[in-house]
Amino acid sequence: MNPGDARPARTVGVLGGGQLGRMLALAGYPLGLRCRFLDPAEESPAGQVAECLRAPWADAAGLERFAAGLDVATFEFENVPVAAVRALAERVPVHPRPEALIAKQDRLDEKRFLRGLGVPTAPFAEVSSRAQLDAAVAEIGFPAVLKTRRDGYDGKGQAVLRVPADLDQAWARLGAHPLILEGFIPFERECSLLAVRGHDGAVLCYPLAENVHRGGILHRSLVPMLGAETLTMHAERHARAVLGALDYVGVLAIEFFVHGGRLLANEMAPRVHNSGHWTQDGAITSQFENHLRAICGLPLGATAVRGAAAMINLIGAIPDPAAILAIPGAKLHLYGKTPRPGRKVGHVNVCAEDTSEVLAAMARIEALLARATGVAEG
Ligand code: AMP
Repeated sequence: MNPGDARPARTVGVLGGGQLGRMLALAGYPLGLRCRFLDPAEESPAGQVAECLRAPWADAAGLERFAAGLDVATFEFENVPVAAVRALAERVPVHPRPEALIAKQDRLDEKRFLRGLGVPTAPFAEVSSRAQLDAAVAEIGFPAVLKTRRDGYDGKGQAVLRVPADLDQAWARLGAHPLILEGFIPFERECSLLAVRGHDGAVLCYPLAENVHRGGILHRSLVPMLGAETLTMHAERHARAVLGALDYVGVLAIEFFVHGGRLLANEMAPRVHNSGHWTQDGAITSQFENHLRAICGLPLGATAVRGAAAMINLIGAIPDPAAILAIPGAKLHLYGKTPRPGRKVGHVNVCAEDTSEVLAAMARIEALLARATGVAEG
């Protein structure tokens, strides 16, 4: 229920109509929740399964139409202009609060915010001029990663600097934007923690997921992350600090590097997250359902993994669905998108009693995926 409202929430507004929104809508139906989306794009994965209004973010009349009759609202796209979220928040309760987006949208603000809460990160420095880039490299050293502060995702808007000669080229490509330089972390592993916080401040954490990225894009996640008891304890402490500081309601993800056995936060996402897709089939309550439960003021659902689970992204191509479904424990999730190189078009979850079974199934899926991607490129 919304605060001060005795009527259970029924219609949930979602800013953004991508695959995350689509999966939120699908998770809402069994709970009697209906999602309505707002997205400027002509075609959206969410629009295939729920009502979707098409309007630019800055269109006040469009926002007004979208907001009419909503009980609560949220966002699935983290680069929604904060002004649109604020305007919506004047009409309907929005969770998480717009402050969570502000903390996230600028990589420099995000790292300062995390550091301010005692969450360790890679060393970083602001870069707003070529001279500042030289100074930042002198401070941080090689190798380092130069990133745009805003609108970057999945490794976009980034350049790795290994030698002084790389600076000119990286500056020519990215120098028009406000930038951040980060130390390049030669991590042993990558992982992410998903946590959900309810209206009453109750927090539940999913098991830590071990992630593998390729070309800056998430490739696969595995749960439980083996040998991660101590890491889990620290990750949960960091997540609780962030959730508390933002008086957060909903699902939050934090991605970490494991370096020297310690966690360094890379970034956070104030929304459901790709590394939590395994929860659809492998957890007692999916991240999508728990996000809806949280923002609607409903009790949170258990976050434990049933046995072991993994997720692999389908990027650029869709393997033969029948071949995937023939693999025991494999579940296919397609987003209704036309495959294009580098585009996430779906994912496969695998659930089994133990990790070795999950890994065996994943090896078969990897082979199908390699074949499909090869066919798509050939
Ligand atoms: P991001 O766009 O920041 O999420 O980065 C995507 C991926 O690029 C990460 O998950 C890492 O695999 C890699 N990456 C980003 N920043 C760094 C860094 N400072 N050091 C090492 N790898 C990085």
